[in-house]
Amino acid sequence: MADKIKVALNGYGTIGKRVADAVARQDDMALVGIAKTRPDYEAYVAAEKGYDIYAVDAAKAGPVFKEAGLQIAGSNEEMIRKADIVVDATPKGIGAKNKALYEKLGKPAIFEGGEKHELTGISFNAAANFDEAIGKQYVRVVSCNTSALCRLVYAIDSAFGIRHAHVTLVRRAADPDDIKKGPVNAIVPDPITLPSHHGPDVQSVMPHIDIVTAALKVPTTLAHVHSVSISVKGTPLRQDVVDALRKWPRIWLIPPLYGIKSTAGVMELGRVLGRPKGDMMENAVWEESVSVDKNGNISLFQAVHQESDVIPENIDCIRAMTGLAKDKLKSMAKTDRSLGIGTLKPWRDFPPHAEGVEAVTAR
Ligand code: NAD
Repeated sequence: MADKIKVALNGYGTIGKRVADAVARQDDMALVGIAKTRPDYEAYVAAEKGYDIYAVDAAKAGPVFKEAGLQIAGSNEEMIRKADIVVDATPKGIGAKNKALYEKLGKPAIFEGGEKHELTGISFNAAANFDEAIGKQYVRVVSCNTSALCRLVYAIDSAFGIRHAHVTLVRRAADPDDIKKGPVNAIVPDPITLPSHHGPDVQSVMPHIDIVTAALKVPTTLAHVHSVSISVKGTPLRQDVVDALRKWPRIWLIPPLYGIKSTAGVMELGRVLGRPKGDMMENAVWEESVSVDKNGNISLFQAVHQESDVIPENIDCIRAMTGLAKDKLKSMAKTDRSLGIGTLKPWRDFPPHAEGVEAVTAR
């Protein structure tokens, strides 16, 4: 662990367990441990993976873990003391409360998209504003929808210059393991008042982008779909747009020949590739959907796997904040190689740090 950056995971749910696994695959990072509130199946699996488990309220929870046969390495405060940086992946609003602890211990912390921009003053997307996070103490990695929008908007803005973007988000109602929020037998404008918060959230990363968003919640758990309409300066050819998107391995243009027609197909591809948890960390843009009209308005559909697209962004954010990397493209390439992003190589072909495996945009 000596010269690796030591990362602590406070909050080990949908996002936290994925960030922990991704940290464990980086050759410049070491996972200090994960904090759990109770000994559920995720705690047993974490123990099997060799992760040190720390209890959130150790005095109260310690005996419960002991009774469950799980060894606790200490309290989450002890875990944080040992770390160079904390990733707080607790539910919305808890991260804001935890900030006082990180301040007390003098530890830099990453917060997730459920927290407000004002908590950190810096909202992060690797492609769009990596440099802003370099050396910073507190940074927020934007939510799943905003991360995917930032990737796409940045790719198009840097290639052509955006005049205006209008996006309708069709949102999954809940994560697959969530029994509190579904099933929803309806299409729910969410929120009914327009625009939705996603546009301002993109502007928290790229303030100069003129963007308006609307969101509808639908009864599915697999992934979100965005219907995107962006007017740009000039009138690029359709092929110019395809080429501009293709430059970024975290944007995956699904070729028509793959026969992937829905979010079900996108997620099945993740499973067929044998990716951990069946995740698809790339924006999946249907190549067939990309079109440009005579006024330079670009339209397309993209699918977004809400559980995993923010994971590589967290890894790059750790590198930026701790000074492990100063060059966004180098950090992103390293992250992508380690996680198998942008390649059709089956996961079993990846050694832990994916040395020598080049990430190539798959199509
Ligand atoms: P989750 O509910 O799946 O996991 C949160 C975990 O934190 C749970 O295991 C919970 O027991 C634990 N926890 C609760 N209180 C805690 C505390 N005080 N200290 C330590 N651990 C505590 O939540 P999630 O979906 O992983 O979301 C985490 C963050 O990521 C939120 O800000 C959310 O908005 C954001 N996010 C979620 C998604 C998604 O689709 N699930 C996508 C992108 C970003």
